[in-house]
Amino acid sequence: DSAGTSSHGDDSTLDERRKAVVNASPAAKSMTSFRKKLPAFKMKDEVLQAVSQNQVLVVSGETGCGKTTQLPQFILEEEINAGRGAACDIICTQPRRISAISVATRVADERGDELGESVGYQIRLEARRSQETRLLFCTTGVLLRRLVQDPLLEGVSHVIVDEIHERGMNEDFLLVVLRDLLPKRPKLRLILMSATINADMFSKYFGNAPKLHIPGFTFPVREFFLEDVVESTGFQSQNNQASSRFSGGRRIEKQKDSLTELFEEVAIQDTYKQFSKSTRKYLECWNPEIIDLDLVEAAIQHICEEKNDGAILVFLTGWDDISKLLDKLKLNPSVRNELLLPLHGSMPTINQRQIFQRPPPGVRKIVLATNIAETSITIDDVVYVIDCGKAKETSYDALNKLACLLPSWISRAAAHQRRGRAGRVQPGICFHLYPKLMYDAMAQYQLPEILRTPLESLCLQIKSLQVGSIAKFLSKALEPPELRAVDNAIESLKTIGALDDREELTSLGRHLATLPLDPKVGKMLLMGAIFQCLDPALTIAAALAHRDPFVIPIDKRDAADEAKRRLAGNARSDHLALMRAYEGYIVAKRHGRERNYCWENFLSAQTLQWMDGAREQFYDHLSKIGFVDNSSNSANYAVEITLQCLSPTYDAFLVQAYNKHSDDLEMVRAVLCAGLYPNVVQCKARGRRTAFFTKDDGKVEPHPASVNSRVGQFAQPWLVYSEKVKTTGIYLRDTTNISDYALLMFGGPLVSNGKGVEMLDGYLQFTASAKTMELVNALRSQLDDLLTRKI
Ligand code: ADP
Ligand code: MG
Repeated sequence: DSAGTSSHGDDSTLDERRKAVVNASPAAKSMTSFRKKLPAFKMKDEVLQAVSQNQVLVVSGETGCGKTTQLPQFILEEEINAGRGAACDIICTQPRRISAISVATRVADERGDELGESVGYQIRLEARRSQETRLLFCTTGVLLRRLVQDPLLEGVSHVIVDEIHERGMNEDFLLVVLRDLLPKRPKLRLILMSATINADMFSKYFGNAPKLHIPGFTFPVREFFLEDVVESTGFQSQNNQASSRFSGGRRIEKQKDSLTELFEEVAIQDTYKQFSKSTRKYLECWNPEIIDLDLVEAAIQHICEEKNDGAILVFLTGWDDISKLLDKLKLNPSVRNELLLPLHGSMPTINQRQIFQRPPPGVRKIVLATNIAETSITIDDVVYVIDCGKAKETSYDALNKLACLLPSWISRAAAHQRRGRAGRVQPGICFHLYPKLMYDAMAQYQLPEILRTPLESLCLQIKSLQVGSIAKFLSKALEPPELRAVDNAIESLKTIGALDDREELTSLGRHLATLPLDPKVGKMLLMGAIFQCLDPALTIAAALAHRDPFVIPIDKRDAADEAKRRLAGNARSDHLALMRAYEGYIVAKRHGRERNYCWENFLSAQTLQWMDGAREQFYDHLSKIGFVDNSSNSANYAVEITLQCLSPTYDAFLVQAYNKHSDDLEMVRAVLCAGLYPNVVQCKARGRRTAFFTKDDGKVEPHPASVNSRVGQFAQPWLVYSEKVKTTGIYLRDTTNISDYALLMFGGPLVSNGKGVEMLDGYLQFTASAKTMELVNALRSQLDDLLTRKI
């Protein structure tokens, strides 16, 4: 343990230099007085004493009281004062990239220091830190990856885990690792920070660790619900409801059903008797599935026209609705001259100062944010909050292996937290854009992520930390997932070849553990690189990682289906339709007509643009782990040059070796099969129709939005699919028709059965010639080799 040994000389120069800077800067002085007013400041001594006397401390306090920006700083200052400045190494984890950057920037400012000197940050693929950095803000994922290399966190003096109340999967995971680590590092200090009051649970988890609460003060906030907002804005239902609105590709049908029922029953009844006819009409048509951006706009306009000064904070679900609303507001004469600021986790850089600063007099600040502004980022001058009631989260039914990432209803605790954001500087107002009935129906707390997301990726992480058995490790979590869910995940990893029979990582598993993707999609990507059709694999992985770029307007469903089928041609593949949609977009963009292109083909330009960035990230990653062969593909060189000369619009890039087979659709299908297996069903002709069989679910169908739904006959006997969703029946989302041979080569293990071979899981029975089998076996053994060698 190297913390605690240091030379005084270093410390005092460090500290003197810092003080000199602070004294010289008036901005830093005013920040010092701001700091002193924060509730956390009054607790400084208690905090420091508790940290010095206990290995683990749980700190809770109202959001905005100064936990994140102050506590790590107190510790740093104390270490410097005690002469341990040069030797301390404080790590503070943040659940999101954007908050790691934002907080590090702020703390460096407060210390009158350059970002990257004493205070730095590190997120995936990006860092500002140096030799001198003593306080590092990083994402939880960064610390987890460091633990792979450095299981004892050698030299780290303090670990501060922030925002633990969110119960993110990474944070829950980290706590298990740290709890095991503490006895091995007696001098290491662990501080857990949480916004709400379930501090007890965390304290118990760490053997009744002491708790410290920072009391805070907020002003009262008046709260209104949908019915009140519609009544007071006189907002008229656009009635043909969904006509102008899009419902994204992936929808929660399950939730919709129960909610629609709820409102059909109650909306028109007594509760709403006192409201006007048009309000009641709005409530009757209210669709819990859709965020009515027209209404959000009306509410903002209402505040701008009728209410006193004060910033507005709008909670939306993601980049899609933020940018759509932004476009609307820019055209609204009552709003467009105000200061409109988006705030979203995957924004490359946020304009820090504007978000936090007071706007010029006469201008109102309007921040359109995701739930990142719920607890991570506090904007002080907010007086009005508009809460759409939803956030994006992954929901997953681990037992049935059904998954989706979509906006879903937040918990009452989160709604309460959002409301509180309006009362930082004066009494505030909060508009919840859902009926009071909805609020009453919300869950009190959100389910921890570990209980609602697929566990495959987590299992791979656990294995790469070499902390022993997966099931045993997970049983030590704060709220352990069900054993059956864990077993399912392990089985599934074995099936795709990421874990071997002894539950150890294979070469494939080691690669997949480093990819920020679902393991099947990750495997498809690796196979795309190996089989030299990387471009299609990148595109399909990007679409599967995020969301479908196809949008389906409710009243134009047929036209949208038609457009997608047109793109698919006769390929019988949603994945290839995705690929072509993206390729078309790139060409259209080159001609500056991407808007038209998206409109004509029912595509979301935002999603396609996002895919661009994701593709680049995947490419960089594959290239880093040695999977990209970007030598030029000389066989096609002459052809390429000729094509470039003949056609001025031809894409002037030389075909690279990694794209040698990108135009070969059979190869792309095979790669899809290699990745998505065992997500495969058999298609059997039944008269003029086709029936689909899986081993365990009985009857399934391609999703109505799939190009393979309501198709008579299939050219090939199998469909691979990305996802199975349960609504009124069991549907397969994104399917591709593949041949026996693809499955024979890239499916599960084979055994011979006298007549031919069959797959262990009993799917495929096949009689193949000895020659074919020789090729298949050669391929299978080489594949292992290829994956191993790349490490
Ligand atoms: P907590 O972690 O307890 O929620 P923070 O430490 O994040 O609180 O914030 C304390 C105060 O510092 C808040 O009033 C917040 O508005 C302010 N603050 C935080 N970051 C910045 C920043 N980058 N610029 C200006 N003020 C900030
Ligand atoms: Mg905080």
